[in-house]
Amino acid sequence: MSSFDDIYEKILQYPTIILHRHTSPDPDAIGSQAGLARSLSEKFPEKRILCAGENDEGDLAWINHMDEVNAEDYKGALVITTDTANTPRISNKLYDQGDFLIKIDHHPDVDPYADMSYVDPDAPAACQIIVDFINAENLPMNKEIAYPLYAGIVGDTGRFMYPETSAHTFEVAAQLAKTGIDITEIARNISDVTFAQAKLQAAVLDYMTVDPSGAAYAVLTQDELKKLGVNFEQTSVTVSTPGRIKDIIAWNVFVEKPDGTYRVHYRSKGPVINHLAEKHDGGGHALASGANAKDMDEVKQIFAELVDVTKRYKEENE
Ligand code: AMP
Repeated sequence: MSSFDDIYEKILQYPTIILHRHTSPDPDAIGSQAGLARSLSEKFPEKRILCAGENDEGDLAWINHMDEVNAEDYKGALVITTDTANTPRISNKLYDQGDFLIKIDHHPDVDPYADMSYVDPDAPAACQIIVDFINAENLPMNKEIAYPLYAGIVGDTGRFMYPETSAHTFEVAAQLAKTGIDITEIARNISDVTFAQAKLQAAVLDYMTVDPSGAAYAVLTQDELKKLGVNFEQTSVTVSTPGRIKDIIAWNVFVEKPDGTYRVHYRSKGPVINHLAEKHDGGGHALASGANAKDMDEVKQIFAELVDVTKRYKEENE
């Protein structure tokens, strides 16, 4: 793995730096990209610093907007991806048209695709790594830079709840809060839902099947989404809903896509589930992963595998 100093050396060398993040972005993807871009723009006003993506921000446009980029921009450019474990997940496929590619991430390094990488799977959010980088290299920090970074940390730690959250996470959060950002506004932007989304969360609880092992799943169909007037991107708010129930240890939420295949969400309070997601065109963190299923048969198979892992976990921990 490269050091922060190695990455900074590269940044110094390039007049154009283009930042990419993952598709179906969450606050950590957009926040890490925006925070780094804003700090670099402030430090190097003479450089072109661009945020690239497929304009798939959806309800997260309050964090940042993408810049227009084209193949010309990539000539002699440095490209940096944040929060993106593998190449199929990089939003905007121009990323490989640059001169040099750097990956900054907190997912397990299953696809070391870049020329230079800084990957720390123990960090709860890519945004925490970006703050550490900014501090290590004495880069600017202010309210505009802190805003997206704080959003990413709140998002990926589940509001400072998930196990990778550490004392250092709170130090970083305190540093960001001191810039004067409105932490209540950010937390509300992340956690408030529309009435239709709340009804979809209720539907998850209604349709949920709970296995005696503590594994649970729910399927949200296109019909259900249409009935409630919720679009595909807005369904992510349902993913944490089953986890609020004490007896549920690990769960899947399956969301039907318009083409009849399924987006799969895996979440866990203990059993490691990313190796399961990897078997179904997916991956992610030990306790939070995503994948894809082509039909209901694969949906059933995925849940059977989750039950298996959860059973074993329960036996080992009883
Ligand atoms: P999600 O369930 O979509 O919120 O994703 C949970 C975590 O898994 C996030 O960190 C994603 O970056 C990661 N992830 C989701 N889908 C995939 C995929 N198809 N391949 C690799 N990682 C994924």
